[in-house]
Amino acid sequence: MNPSLSRDAVTYIPLKFHLIANAAGLGRVNEHKVLDQLANLNSFYQEFAPDIQFYMVDGLNYIDNDAAFSTHFTGAGQAQLINNRVDNALNVFIPLDANTTSGGQGITLGYYDPNSGADWVVIRKADINGQSETLSHEVGHFLGLLHPFNGWDFEPFDNNTVNPVGTYSPSVGFPSLIPNEKQNGSNCETAGDFICDTPPDYNHFNTNWEFNYVGGAKDPDGVTIDPDETNIMSYFINCNPKSFTTDQVNLMTVDVVQRIANNTLNQGPASFASVGDETALSFPLDEALNVPHNEVEFIWDDVDGATAYLLEIDKFSTFNIEPERYFVYGNNKVISGIDANRTYYWRVRPFNAYDTFSPNSETRKFTTGNTTNTNEIAALKDWAITPNPISTNESLKIMINADQAFEADIEIFSLNGKLVQKISNQYFGQGQQSIETDLSKLNKGIYIVSLVSEKGILNKKIAIQ
Ligand SMILES: [Zn+2]
Repeated sequence: MNPSLSRDAVTYIPLKFHLIANAAGLGRVNEHKVLDQLANLNSFYQEFAPDIQFYMVDGLNYIDNDAAFSTHFTGAGQAQLINNRVDNALNVFIPLDANTTSGGQGITLGYYDPNSGADWVVIRKADINGQSETLSHEVGHFLGLLHPFNGWDFEPFDNNTVNPVGTYSPSVGFPSLIPNEKQNGSNCETAGDFICDTPPDYNHFNTNWEFNYVGGAKDPDGVTIDPDETNIMSYFINCNPKSFTTDQVNLMTVDVVQRIANNTLNQGPASFASVGDETALSFPLDEALNVPHNEVEFIWDDVDGATAYLLEIDKFSTFNIEPERYFVYGNNKVISGIDANRTYYWRVRPFNAYDTFSPNSETRKFTTGNTTNTNEIAALKDWAITPNPISTNESLKIMINADQAFEADIEIFSLNGKLVQKISNQYFGQGQQSIETDLSKLNKGIYIVSLVSEKGILNKKIAIQ
């Protein structure tokens, strides 16, 4: 029985992405591209194999190791892969390149070695992005698919090949000789990729034939073959868009069901929330000046369905010069060690383990000053605002616990940075005290309450409902 008939829901397959850098932590693929890649993989499978989808299990893994980064095929490199792989998931290792000692066909974009039994694919860093087909292709191998040109992998058909081809492909075969598939389909179950709705293909490297193969290869009966240039398991690299055939999808489905039944692959949750649109940034305010640099608190809006956010900060708006990137499980993060007297750019992208389709926020910038005591007012022990959320007919209580007396302004900002309310020159004595303020003039929404003293600024977010 075809297992696909007994399944009526999407199966979510766990992926573990391993982002490899050299020993100094340099050269790693950008997390942004990993999110783009997952979205790319899911949208391809959603179109052609909609019951098979993928999600990130337990965030990303980082490996800082020279061998794993640039020579992953060596013993030292393989040891790193073996030590880092996780059980019951498909591991995706991302080194500098995917070349192997046995590769032999120039640059390898990625690979899955079906003979190793390993539950991993290796994809070179340059092929992890929102457009590359490499991961979709290698996952096809992992789920049991062969190339349509099976048997011609290491010896593509070219002008020197005997034509018409003989009964068997050039491969010495594993475990036996692989017959050449005929154009009339008569031996499709026992030849080539052993799949009947993929026509013969003898592996044709020639960019002239990307869209319509006219190389003239003839099958063992002397019939000119007509390969499927759009099949993602083929090597007609530039012929887009790619697709799977129905039989390929059925084979992959059988493989998924078997792996789950054999407990070699976990089945993910029944469903995932979809993530809303981009987030809105709150703090620091756009174009803010003299931001104290020792500890900068970044705040943005929660987005429906998001469980994490990618926060990126750089001195350049391209985010590729000296970027700092963080997976943040919440809507704010304090970052220390930011340079004084510099302009920084930042943006935030919401996602969850499955839905990584949401775009970046706008890019904002701010400039740091010389001061370093932002998040501390020395005299202040603790402070709180209550209730939060607050309704428009309640008054806001600001509670202060001070070690020493100090003076501060209380400023309330809307999220677009507009000062909407201010209490000036408020004196706070030593010990516990509170002041109240009326917010009835403000619209419902999110605001920032700032305690502004000569010694520093403290922010808290409040929701008016
Ligand atoms: Zn392949």
